[in-house]
Amino acid sequence: MKSKPHRCWAEIDLAAFERNLHRIQSALPDKVRYVAVVKADAYGHGMPQMVRRLMQSGVDCFAVANVHEAADIRHLGAGWPILVLSPVLPGEESYLLDYELAATVSTPEEVQRLNQIASAAGQSIRVHLKVDTGMGRLGVWHEQASEIIRALQASEALQLCGIYTHFSSADTDPEFTHLQRSRFLEVLRLLPDMEISENPDFLIHADNSAAIESFRGDTPFNAVRVGLLQLGVSPYPDSALGRAKVEPVFSFHTRVGIVKELPAGTDISYGRTHTLTQAKRIAVLTAGYGDGIPLELSNKGEVLLQGKRCPILGRVTMDQTIVDISALDKVTPGDEVILIGRSGEEEISANEFSRRAGTIPWECLCSITKRVTRIYTNGREI
Ligand SMILES: *Cc1c(COP(=O)(O)O)cnc(C)c1O
Repeated sequence: MKSKPHRCWAEIDLAAFERNLHRIQSALPDKVRYVAVVKADAYGHGMPQMVRRLMQSGVDCFAVANVHEAADIRHLGAGWPILVLSPVLPGEESYLLDYELAATVSTPEEVQRLNQIASAAGQSIRVHLKVDTGMGRLGVWHEQASEIIRALQASEALQLCGIYTHFSSADTDPEFTHLQRSRFLEVLRLLPDMEISENPDFLIHADNSAAIESFRGDTPFNAVRVGLLQLGVSPYPDSALGRAKVEPVFSFHTRVGIVKELPAGTDISYGRTHTLTQAKRIAVLTAGYGDGIPLELSNKGEVLLQGKRCPILGRVTMDQTIVDISALDKVTPGDEVILIGRSGEEEISANEFSRRAGTIPWECLCSITKRVTRIYTNGREI
């Protein structure tokens, strides 16, 4: 152990991350561009480290939620295309010019506002048109796309360099995804040929991690947007599906703080939600919801210690979590505990961790807090 042990930390295996990226790339047709989605601090993995690795391994474009995240990427490398996925607020437009970002537009108001600002600056702004094919969130409603396409064509200071849609249930509802895909294909017919066939840099994209599974080479789609899958978490944890077999990148660790015996009848933790029916040996771990262990794992979660599963007893608290170690031989303060990851023959995946907490891996990964040190490795040589 190093001189100052971490109390709660995440290990991020950049070599596994890079292998995942290559696996996903090779599962797709050659012409398909890879848009790496690294919003929300690369899903809590640490944006700069993940982006640098993606830059080295050769992705085509980055996508983030907002102009601030986009500016952070720009500081890491000039020249990379960066797409802002969420709306650009009034007052934020100058970022698009200063950092050479592409904006997403869904409404005539955005088209007009961005065009005005770009014209006034004597510059042009790159935009992707987003089409709402059934998500009911961003994008122009697919049946109303012709008007905004005309507005874009008339906007001299805007450069339309892509069009995309977003699937709402690619992992659960292939029929609805098919409907969304065909609505999107209808909208593509409204674009002048010029846009698509004469500009190799024009991106047409729809597929996220869950949809890559059903990516079809016979459509004009020439890019995918990948977030979760490159991080080694499959949206299809329980099925044989898996066009690109990925491996875990992220593991979540803490330590035993103290070990003690408690008599039968003891109520454990806040709210007294668990009463010992027999005497138990417990360990108090040095992490809680202040680190990103969901409160929902109270009385539901498990952790790994010495390759064995140990149940969480009572409520998870801000800084500490109590686990049952009665089945283990010798546990000492400082021992490593796995919250997500592998210990001996046992593994708790990010999917299992999230499912037990009644949530989804996207949320769990972004909820791991700043207090948790991120340690970057190239394999498990720590
Ligand atoms: C976050 C996001 C993605 C990536 O989704 P994953 O399921 O993590 O692959 C793709 N497209 C848009 C518009 C997003 O907001």
